[in-house]
Amino acid sequence: MSDCLFCKIINGDVPSKKIYEDSLVYVFEDIAPAAPIHYLLIPKEHISSAKDITEKNSNVVGHIFEVISKLAKNLDLKDGFRVVNNCGENAGQTVFHIHFHLLAGKSFEWPAG
Ligand code: 5GP
Ligand code: ZN
Repeated sequence: MSDCLFCKIINGDVPSKKIYEDSLVYVFEDIAPAAPIHYLLIPKEHISSAKDITEKNSNVVGHIFEVISKLAKNLDLKDGFRVVNNCGENAGQTVFHIHFHLLAGKSFEWPAG
């Protein structure tokens, strides 16, 4: 999608601090970190939000969680971490290319506000 910020990050038109990349996903640092570690994991295919996940594209969500597990091991996040997906306006989604926040390095409140 030519007018999508995260598609522009994937194709390099907008710079980002890359953490990991493979044929399906791209991982980069959030520009406004909410924790000492705050990465965004996005599929290379443009999918607007969680409500657009179908049986045809859901494999990438499983793959993203495989990548999260590998990153957690590599980063030694043994004290835990949080994964967040905001879907739609009420949840605070601001970029409409599905993304999963990986947050770590601090203790988090629950339930979220
Ligand atoms: P959302 O609120 O949609 O769940 O999360 C969007 C996230 O994208 C926010 O945490 C925000 O800081 C991050 N973000 C917005 N614009 C940019 C950008 O240009 N570069 C990077 N690296 N992150 C961004
Ligand atoms: Zn996109």
